[in-house]
Amino acid sequence: MTSPRRKLVAGNWKMHGCLAANRDLVAGLRAGLGDFSSANVAVCVPAPYLAQVSELVRGSAIALGAQNASEHKGGAFTGEHAVSMLKELGCTFVIVGHSERRALYGETSAQVVAKAMTVLDAGLTPVFCMGESLAEREADATEAVIAAQLDAVIAGAGIEAVGKCVLAYEPVWAIGTGKTATPAQAQAVHAFIRNRIAAKGAGVAGSVKILYGGSVKAANAQALFACADIDGGLVGGASLQAAEFAAICKAAA
Ligand code: PEP
Repeated sequence: MTSPRRKLVAGNWKMHGCLAANRDLVAGLRAGLGDFSSANVAVCVPAPYLAQVSELVRGSAIALGAQNASEHKGGAFTGEHAVSMLKELGCTFVIVGHSERRALYGETSAQVVAKAMTVLDAGLTPVFCMGESLAEREADATEAVIAAQLDAVIAGAGIEAVGKCVLAYEPVWAIGTGKTATPAQAQAVHAFIRNRIAAKGAGVAGSVKILYGGSVKAANAQALFACADIDGGLVGGASLQAAEFAAICKAAA
């Protein structure tokens, strides 16, 4: 049976780029994608470049995303950016709960859930990240960690709201390390996530997209995206190379 879910490949540029490099990267991606329309494509760019990239992707099928947002709608929060601002700049997606934000900036599960709800409230789509560390995987705690992260958003936002998110399984040990989960390892966790959602709402489980992230490259994308419960990818390093990222997007066809 073919999946009812259209695939999505989202690039996460992290803290990379400059005006000139962004121009070249988006031009290269547009050329590389041509009239490709068999999957959705997005780029999540550093906040200072959202306005620039919003113009660069205009007229293409490439959607724009941000990498973070405040859980607050506005006010005295120096250095933060509100979802309304991201929306005004043309964002469709906002990554929330990326492991780098959880680990390096101390974002708690409650805060990540609050961010997801603020993003949803504004009519944008959170890309809600979950993943276990190497120590947790080695301790056989992968499912417990994923369950806790997923249950937090189900409890806080409600199952229907989770259905409006894009979920991303990103094993921390595979992010930026060159070590990719095997398709079997990734599929097992994706199926676990989908089954856990199904226990709360079968319709949501059938329609919610679950992306895989962690050292996705053109060479491994097709095998990952062919798995039954993998609906595309969240791609860091490889999204900074236009030809490589275009090839990954095409692997989702
Ligand atoms: C990411 O940052 O979300 C990511 C998956 O990075 P990479 O593809 O570089 O592992």
